[in-house]
Parts: sequence; structure tokens; C-alpha cells
Amino acid sequence: MCGIVGYVGSEQAAPILLDGLARLEYRGYDSAGIAVVSPRHELQVKKTVGRLRALSDLVHGGADVEGTIGMGHTRWATHGAPNDVNSHPHVSENGKFAVIHNGIIENYVELKEFLISQGVTFRSETDTEVVAQLLEFYYNECGDFFESVGRVLRRIEGAYALGMLCADCPDRIIAARKDAPLLLGFGEGCSFLASDATAIIKHTRDVVYMDDGEIAVLTRGGIQLYNAMQQPIEKEHHHIEWEVSAAEKGGYPHFMLKEIMEQPDALRHAIAPRLRGGEIVFDDLKLTPEKIRGFDRIFIVACGSSYHVGMVGKYNLEHLLRRSVEVALASEFRYSDPIVDDKTLVIIISQSGETLDTMAALREAKKRGAYILSIVNVVGSSIARESDDVLYTWAGPEIAVATTKAYSTQLAVLDMVGLCFAKLLGTVKEEEYADAVRELALLPDKVKETLGHCEDIQKYAAQHFHHESVFFIGRNLDYALGLEGSLKLKEISYIHSEAYASGELKHGTISLIEDGTLVIALGTYGPLFDKAMSNVIEVKARGADVLALTTESHRNEMAKTVDHVLTIPDTAAMLLPSLGVVPLQLFSYYIALQRGCDIDKPRNLAKSVTVE
Ligand code: GLU
Repeated sequence: MCGIVGYVGSEQAAPILLDGLARLEYRGYDSAGIAVVSPRHELQVKKTVGRLRALSDLVHGGADVEGTIGMGHTRWATHGAPNDVNSHPHVSENGKFAVIHNGIIENYVELKEFLISQGVTFRSETDTEVVAQLLEFYYNECGDFFESVGRVLRRIEGAYALGMLCADCPDRIIAARKDAPLLLGFGEGCSFLASDATAIIKHTRDVVYMDDGEIAVLTRGGIQLYNAMQQPIEKEHHHIEWEVSAAEKGGYPHFMLKEIMEQPDALRHAIAPRLRGGEIVFDDLKLTPEKIRGFDRIFIVACGSSYHVGMVGKYNLEHLLRRSVEVALASEFRYSDPIVDDKTLVIIISQSGETLDTMAALREAKKRGAYILSIVNVVGSSIARESDDVLYTWAGPEIAVATTKAYSTQLAVLDMVGLCFAKLLGTVKEEEYADAVRELALLPDKVKETLGHCEDIQKYAAQHFHHESVFFIGRNLDYALGLEGSLKLKEISYIHSEAYASGELKHGTISLIEDGTLVIALGTYGPLFDKAMSNVIEVKARGADVLALTTESHRNEMAKTVDHVLTIPDTAAMLLPSLGVVPLQLFSYYIALQRGCDIDKPRNLAKSVTVE
């Protein structure tokens, strides 16, 4: 979602803020702004709708804005249109307080009415402005910045990462967090605030992740943290291990292509440390075998592509564990009065670990007594912290809005969970387990081999990018794979597409197939290859242009019927989607490239969705 960056030091703040915001661009935003304390202790606020470039032009790369303390924000509008006035920072009526905010103040209407009744005039349509105006209101009562912050936090409800400046206390930023990511960076004679480490890693690797209810006061001399009762607290520091270059494009034209190409390495990181002597070993798992045996119900809860990981997981885990597995969209699950109790395992999947819907689903499940096992990429994220058990995907930072390596690593980890539990429960045949473990070890290399076919896919995309509608069809694991392929295409190329279980076509959708309709037929799943072929023949008979994806061993048979065949190496059945997703990612990427789309930052989408 939005990006927050703050700096308190002795260098000119504005260029540091602009640079930090640029590193958070991937989070998705529609406007940007900065607030800097001037040497005369006035708050200078510059903001504009549009890309960071526009903000940078407005302040000549920051050179125009004097001052060494400030904060910057990229907004992803939730309340009020994306425009200059609604952009952050928001300033109180007397100009003494500036606020940046990520999240939603849920009781802002009531607070706004109260403040209006007190004679306050609002400028914007945002929920955020009530925070700035309330700060001024309480400051008029108590004359103390920190105390005013405490009073504001006791009044506001909802989700927030907040950065606050007060012209009367020009040496500090006060930050607060609830249900939205925020971390603190410790430098030499300077302090930082950021939505995530990417924004500040250039300056410091020494960070503290803020938790819900905490408040921080950042000054040049250091950072003091407080709990919700405003009592000082000490917290463990984390050292960021990854390199800045890991968050840059590394020579690729787009982050998405870079991240597609990084999948062999990302998978190696996710898999290799967990394979030992032909066994899957999760050192980081607290779940005991007794506990695993005691679960009678399993839910996989997630959103977007992580939900599609769950769809593959349902087929694989049900097959391996002989237990029913339900996959639920987090936004539905939380309000569905789910049948969850202390015999339920809820597997939560989230790249960022901050997805608000998923977080809320986690809390709902926890309240009902479920055991929470999460699969998360971002270490120390909210979901990771609130789960009973966390398995990290170790995919490194993912910048492109459309996920690729996070999907692949989530899937690999979920498959490993299935295999590990099946072994414990004795529900998997020894040969099947051994074969899957062997193939897991080979998966990074097989993904690499699949990436080698990208020219063929690029050529095909160049001929087919003009389609306005595409159908993905497949059965079983190929259906689950199709869901992800279809979403990828929609997200970045804006082409309408649908994924259907092939057997379902004849019950309605086949009416949409006509001369020249593009159908992507997924036929990688060996046990149902013949059935998949019958469905391919049905759409061919109605004039469809068919691009098929299958395994090398089925290539010849598929080629007899369809117009173009892409192949993946043969592997254990359960791992086919891990290979199959690669050509689909590349297909979407090259189609979007041909159509001139903003691939890394597709319209209307945000990377980390921290609003409901
Ligand atoms: N709710 C606030 C707004 O609409 C903040 C949105 C954000 O997280 O960027 O301005």
C-alpha cells in the first residue's frame, strides 16, 4: 500500500526522503508528498497527485526544500479521490502539525463532526486529516506534543502507521503503529522511519519493527520507543542481511522479469535448507507430531495469488493427508462464521505478511481456537508475529506488484508442509514421498530449464497480444494453475481472462468460444491428460486458437491437435504447477510488454494491500 519514510539528522532531508519514497514505489500509490521542518521551524509541505517524478520536479529533486528533519509519503487513496489536496502530508488548521498515514481511520466521520462542531475547518476529504486536526485540538488543551499524540491514539479507531511533526518541537518525528507496517532505522547521528527496510537500507541495516500500539520518538540522538501506555520500552534490534542490489533491477527492464528469472535461486533458498538425507525437515516448526495428528480440519486462507497457491495446495494436501482441506479467500472467511475450533489448522499465506484481510482472518481463526501456521516472505511482519508457527519463503524482496517468486516459493513451502505432515501421519506411500523429495531438490534446476524457453514464448506473445479475451482451461492441478495464469494476465496486460475447469466448459462457458478465441489449454497433469485432450478438441472444433502447455513426454500427442505447444520438464505430479506457472508468467509479461503496459506498477493495484 502506501509508503512512509522519515528522516531526522543533519543532512538535507528532502533528497533522502525522495530517494526513500522511490524505493517504496513498488507498493503502489497515486500521489506523493513531503513535509520538512525549515531552519525557521516552519513546516514546509509539498505534495502532488501522480508519480514521484512530479513531486521531485516540484521541489527540484529536493534542493528547494531546506531542513534536516522531515517525512515523505506515497498515498494509495482510500478516502477521497487521488488529488493534490487529499495527498499526504496533511496539516492542521494552524499549520503546526503535519501527518502522514497508511491505513484507514474507521471512526473519522464521528471525529470530523466533533471537530467541525468545535469550529475546525477541514481541507481534504481524507480520513487522515482528522489526525492532524485532533493533534492541534489536544495540543491546545495540554501544550505537549507527546501527550497530544497519546490522546489522539486513544480516540482513533482503525489501522494506521503514522508519522507526525510539530512545528513547536522541531527536533523530532513521532511515529505510531496499529495494523500497518512501520519500522525504525538507527543511524550514526540520525534516525529513520519507514514502511519497509527497502527505503532506508542504503543508510542503515540496524532496525526495529514496531508492534501494534507502540509509539516512537525519533531525534538525531536516537529513538525512544513507548508502549500504548506511553511508558518507555526497549526492543530487540534486527540486522538486515540482504543487499541493496536485491531491491534494484539488476539490469532487467522490469522488476517482474528480474523476479521471474530469480525463481531458481528463490526456490533453492526455500527448499534446500529444508531437505536433509531424503527427508523434509522444518527446524523452524514448533508444531509437534501429536498436535498434527489431532487436527481434524485444515483451512488455507489467503488472497489473490496466495489464494491460488492454496488452490494447488488443496489438491496436493488432500491427496497426501487424506483430510479435507478448505481453501478460503481471507476477505470472505473472516465474515463467514467459519467452522473453526481448537482441532483446526489454519494455514495463512501472505507475501508481505501485512495483507489486512489475511491478518483479520488470522485473528478470527485464532479467536476461535485454531492453530495458525503462516507462510510468509517478510521476516518480522505482522502475520509472522501473530502466528503460532511461521515458515518463511526466503524469496527476498519482491518489488513488482504482480507476484512471481513469492508465488513459487509459497507453493514449494506448502507442498513441503503437505509431504512432511503426510510422512508423520503415515498417509503417503514411501515411493511417492521419496520421488517428491527427489524432485523438490531438482525443482530449481527444472525451473531454470523452463526459463530457457522464454524466446519461444516472446515470439508467440508478439503474435497474440491483440486478443481482448483469453480462456485458461485445465483439470485438477491444471485448473488451479490456470487460475494463477489468468490472474497474472489480467493484472499486468489488462486483458480480460477467465480460468475454467475444462470439464465445466460444456455447462456454459463454451458458448463464448468462437472463431479465433484464444484458449490456453493446460495439460500438464498426466493422470488426466486424456480428459484434458478431449476438452481441447471441443474448443478446437469451435474455432479456438489454442496454445497448450504440457510436459515433454506429452508434447507429441498435444502437438497433433493444437496450434502451438509449450513444454515443461516432467516431474512429480504434485510439483507440476511449480513448473507450469513459469511459462504463464512469461506469457503475461511479454503480452503486457507488447501492449506497452506499466508492468511493475499496473493500474489500480497495490503490492501490499493493507486496507480492507
Ligand atoms: N486512508 C488514507 C487516505 O486515503 C491513507 C491511505 C494510504 O494508506 O495511503 O488518504
